Amino acid sequence: MNKVFIAISILFLFTSCQKQSKEKEVENEDISAHWSYDGETGPEHWAELEGQTNCDGNFQSPINLVNFKVAENLQPIDLHYSKETILHDVANNGHSIQYDFEAGDFLIHESDTFHLKQFHFHEPAEHLIEGVRYPLEIHLVHQNDSKEFVVLSVMAKEGKNSEPFELLESYLPIKKGETKLIKKPFDISQNLPQHKGYFSYEGSLTTPPCSEEVTWIVFKEAIEVSLEQVELLKYLMPINNYRDEQPHHGRVVRSTSF
Ligand SMILES: [Zn+2]
Repeated sequence: MNKVFIAISILFLFTSCQKQSKEKEVENEDISAHWSYDGETGPEHWAELEGQTNCDGNFQSPINLVNFKVAENLQPIDLHYSKETILHDVANNGHSIQYDFEAGDFLIHESDTFHLKQFHFHEPAEHLIEGVRYPLEIHLVHQNDSKEFVVLSVMAKEGKNSEPFELLESYLPIKKGETKLIKKPFDISQNLPQHKGYFSYEGSLTTPPCSEEVTWIVFKEAIEVSLEQVELLKYLMPINNYRDEQPHHGRVVRSTSF
């Protein structure tokens, strides 16, 4: 009897370990099966669809960046981006096209180090700048050791062809659920606007679990990408992969004086 019990226990342990590693592998897909950008799994249902989320919280993102206060003490962003940092892969997770970095790039925010993990796209933009919605928004997601986020947001408008974008898009197209290894250095600072003035406020991730541990830094100036470059991304991502603006609930939006 005991032997049978031990055998069953070992079998159970083995299969549950297997299941765990499998679960890790497909984590993105599992989550993507639960939520989307429209219909019964759309943003208004995120809070009920996903168990423990902040999606119905009071400090959600994105927002309309209006009624901001110019804060003289807001410093230029302390960026430490290198030409040598390795772009590891690009993935189509069913919600966006996402490029993942290896360790290397970081920024310093309030004396804390936030490492650049990945960047991805929303089309059209999620944040509004004084009511204006740009055709494309890029989120550069940084995280510190306490799992808090600083997300840099770069707006893009249609204009001239962007060379760094051309390089990024040379790894596309990519099918939903697919990941392509890149393993090449990429200088993300080439995708930032010249002028580094920004808006900042405290908010959340704009996708489930909508965690409210995000300092948002949204550049005032948009970069330019060509219509074709916008169209290629649009073709690969869900239509309108943006969340509607969320209430401010008394939050202060700060603006640099530059
Ligand atoms: Zn995003």
